[in-house]
Amino acid sequence: MGSYSLDFRSGIWTSSEILDTLFGIDADYHRTIEGWEQLIHADDRNRMDHYLKNNIFTQKESFNQEYRIKRHNDQADRWVHGLGELEFDHQGTPILMKGTIQDITERKRAEKHIENLVNFDQLTGLPNRFMLNDKITCLFNLAQRNNTPLTLMFLDLDHFKNINDTLGHAIGDQLLIETAKRLKSAIREEDLVSRIGSDEFILVFPNTDAERAMNMAMELIETVSMPALFEDHELVITPTIGIAIYPNDGEEFETLIKNADTAMYMAKKYNRNTFNFFTEEMQVHLERKLKIANAMRHALERNEMQVHYQPQVSAMDGHTIGAEALLRWNHPELGTISPSEFIPLAENNGQILAIGEWVLRTAIRQMKVWQNEGLAPMIVAVNMSALQFKQPNLIEMIIDMLDEAQLAHEHLELELTEAITMDDPQTAISIMNQFHSQGIRMSIDDFGTGYSSLSYLKQFKVYKLKIDQSFVRNLEDDSDDRSIVRSIIDLSKNMGMETIAEGVETAEQLEFLRLHGCNEIQGYYFSKALPADEFASFAKQGLHH
Ligand code: C2E
Ligand code: MG
Ligand code: MG
Repeated sequence: MGSYSLDFRSGIWTSSEILDTLFGIDADYHRTIEGWEQLIHADDRNRMDHYLKNNIFTQKESFNQEYRIKRHNDQADRWVHGLGELEFDHQGTPILMKGTIQDITERKRAEKHIENLVNFDQLTGLPNRFMLNDKITCLFNLAQRNNTPLTLMFLDLDHFKNINDTLGHAIGDQLLIETAKRLKSAIREEDLVSRIGSDEFILVFPNTDAERAMNMAMELIETVSMPALFEDHELVITPTIGIAIYPNDGEEFETLIKNADTAMYMAKKYNRNTFNFFTEEMQVHLERKLKIANAMRHALERNEMQVHYQPQVSAMDGHTIGAEALLRWNHPELGTISPSEFIPLAENNGQILAIGEWVLRTAIRQMKVWQNEGLAPMIVAVNMSALQFKQPNLIEMIIDMLDEAQLAHEHLELELTEAITMDDPQTAISIMNQFHSQGIRMSIDDFGTGYSSLSYLKQFKVYKLKIDQSFVRNLEDDSDDRSIVRSIIDLSKNMGMETIAEGVETAEQLEFLRLHGCNEIQGYYFSKALPADEFASFAKQGLHH
């Protein structure tokens, strides 16, 4: 400890030899206020300025601060504790400060070390359980306040004990360090990973639902299981993950940890190297999704998919105007899977592009086959998903298909949903214009269920609106639905479009629609979607009533 005094009137200060050594200065050092300030570490200067202004000069407190100094001889910075008393003149202006400064670097180092020991796992450098508790409380409060899901995972390495026992602890340690590194690199910045036991890790993902959790878990499994090389040993270690999600699987943080832990042990019981949700329905639901998405990759090449055709019948005279092409999938193990289930998955992982292309080609060729067989000219309507609609060269691709089959453009109709115009209406409109100028028809599917902006509808060159089946279903006993259907028919008439009603099942529904001027009918009342040959027989039967 050494003493100093600072004279504000002359702007000169003095310090004892001990302090000069500490500061790394000699007798020649410019002992002005500026020279004094330069000794204070740049990162602490603002804080010190503030402290001096507010606490010392205004409140007239004694000086008592810990701060870092920048030593003048380029040696490492040091922490000091400064004490001082001030003298003021009768106007309250400071004239003199005297006190002592003590080197506290060692104490600071020890404190930091202890903090480190308390909060971090010493082997991997990850936050430990203590720090986890601290951080998770914050994340939890945030999830509660914002009403967002939060995923907690319990990850445990499979057979880690064997590695420790057979290859020794040094290798075991390296493996844990490597695992920690991989986990850290796989998560986002806002996520948290901590090591809470020998080979046990807890991961917390704010704003993460079951679907994302599943993807994350698969990614973690893949990352952790990659081979690692330690001292000539190529090791592969797999993790098992238990997943619990706030708020469904627990509203308290302890419950959530317990449930993620339970989920992990359940998974280990049956098979390792996998993930398991605490809630069984979630697991079953997501596993099915995963299975379907995987099976879909081979569905086309294995001829598991078919296109069926649902008749579209004129409401006026009952002749078959055309057909909607509807995709059917029969998987050897999973059985028949509804397009309402697999199409959204295919849209998610992009497989809809290949599948959609196949449907288009199949439907176009089929229409030509029917023409060659002598069936009256018809229109085949093919469903388009938003992703498909956005793909570049879609128009060229479709025109090539039509040319290849030698089918005139007017025999194809694309069923679009309002979703295609969602993020970029202008682009969608320009694509629609191109189809229109090529003589390819378009209709709006499920009309009334999306966001229908009339100002856009005006710009869409579609020739037909498809009244969604949800409005048709209760036509008989829901007067709201009756007025909706009537308005859609009027609206489309006023805009020069036609209407087709989907999901027509009863004679009463048909009667109502006919009465109000709906042009076409599609539904079980006439027929469900049929394989190509059965559809041909249906169309040949003539008029349907
Ligand atoms: P969507 O385009 O609205 O097709 C009409 C759905 O209603 C079809 O279901 C059809 O079988 C069903 N349906 C027809 N008439 C009746 C009826 O009288 N009563 C009832 N309850 N239902 C009726 P499906 O075949 O299960 O298709 C469901 C959805 O899957 C389709 O809705 C469409 O959005 C999508 N989808 C089907 N095939 C394809 C495809 O090739 N590409 C794309 N992107 N989507 C497709
Ligand atoms: Mg459709
Ligand atoms: Mg529809």
